[in-house]
Amino acid sequence: MPSHFRGHCLDCGHEWDGLRWRIACGPVDFQKPETYRGYFCPRCFVDLYVARQLSRSSWLRWVSENASEITRSPLLFSACELGVRVDLQALGVISRSPLLFEACERVSTILAGVRSRYVPVRIDIGTMACPDCGDQMRIACLETNLLACPKCESQSARLIGEHHAEIVLVDYFPLNDGEVRRVILHLKELAEHPEDHHPNKMLALPTSECRGPLWDWELDGSID
Ligand SMILES: [Zn+2]
Ligand SMILES: [Zn+2]
Repeated sequence: MPSHFRGHCLDCGHEWDGLRWRIACGPVDFQKPETYRGYFCPRCFVDLYVARQLSRSSWLRWVSENASEITRSPLLFSACELGVRVDLQALGVISRSPLLFEACERVSTILAGVRSRYVPVRIDIGTMACPDCGDQMRIACLETNLLACPKCESQSARLIGEHHAEIVLVDYFPLNDGEVRRVILHLKELAEHPEDHHPNKMLALPTSECRGPLWDWELDGSID
């Protein structure tokens, strides 16, 4: 979820309005900070929140729900001169963010080390580099840390105000179903325990005709 913020640099006095991105990886309860680990980039104003504990079953359900905008509501679009206004919550989908995609791959890989689908596992994806600027992300969040000032570049700016942006202007392009299916299958395959890995079962998913493209047989209980 994005929000507009106002920043103030303690070094040069510069004040500016910026857009801050919050990206959740896995089911994260923002009311309970102990349930996730926060990473942030002070230069790009991006926060990534990764669930600290997950079972493969809850993870795959989350992946299915977050691979496509179709599963999200409300999905608000309205055309205007410069592009499209979109409800940015709808853009918090896995394949739209290289950062989220990489975090998801790491979570899947950790879950592949566990046999049970239902036992919660401790998740630690290690350190992350910011895909936009290449810097190492800090393990913290924007509220408690200093930001990089866009004018003098010193890391001595802080948040002085914030409000949530419901809808912002983006250069929107729709995701196609094939892409969505590839993301789901890729993360699902990565999360499989090696001894439970059945490639034929995986390949059966996208060609099934009687279910929608996002139908998940495993979550449906059809596969055991
Ligand atoms: Zn960055
Ligand atoms: Zn400054």
